[in-house]
Amino acid sequence: MELNLREIIENPGAVMKFQTALSEDRIKNHSIISFLEAPTAVGEIKNSAGALKLDASMRATMLCSCDRCGISYEKEQQLDVSFPLVIKSETQADDSEAFVISGEVLDVSDVLETAFILESESKYLCREDCKGVCPGCGEDLNEGSCKCQKQRDPRLAVLEQLLDTQEQ
Ligand SMILES: [Zn+2]
Ligand SMILES: [Zn+2]
Repeated sequence: MELNLREIIENPGAVMKFQTALSEDRIKNHSIISFLEAPTAVGEIKNSAGALKLDASMRATMLCSCDRCGISYEKEQQLDVSFPLVIKSETQADDSEAFVISGEVLDVSDVLETAFILESESKYLCREDCKGVCPGCGEDLNEGSCKCQKQRDPRLAVLEQLLDTQEQ
C-alpha cells in the first residue's frame, strides 16, 4: 500500500492514518505453518514540528510449529512499532533508528513487513518452558521422561568399565 506523504510533509501537525494488509508470503518463516487470520496493520504517520513519525500496530493469528518439540500451536501476535521517517533528500540525520525513504511516496506495507520480520521473536515455542524432544530416545519430554537411561548404550557401559579400572 502506497501513501503519498506530500500533504503531511508540508503541514506540521498533520496526521495520515492508514490500515493495510501485510503479505503472508513475505512475513512467513520456517516456524509459521499458516495464517489463521490475514495479518494486518493499522497506524498513522504524524508530522510533529516538521519531523515525520510512523506508529503502527500489527496483528497476526498464526499456526506455528514449536522449534523444540515440533507440535503445532496457535499464536496470536501483536507487534507495535514506532520510528521516525526521514526523506533522503533532507539533511542526512545520523539517526540509525530512522527509516529513510527516497521520496514522498512510502510503501507502508513493505516497511511494516520488514519491521514484522525484524521484531518477531527468533524462537517459536509452544510454551516458554517447553522441554522439547530428547535427541537420544525421541521422547517428548513434556509428556514423559527420557528413556535413554533405561536402554543403556553398550558403548557407554564399556566406557564406564574403563573408568572403573582407572580408579582402582
Ligand atoms: Zn514445544
Ligand atoms: Zn532420552
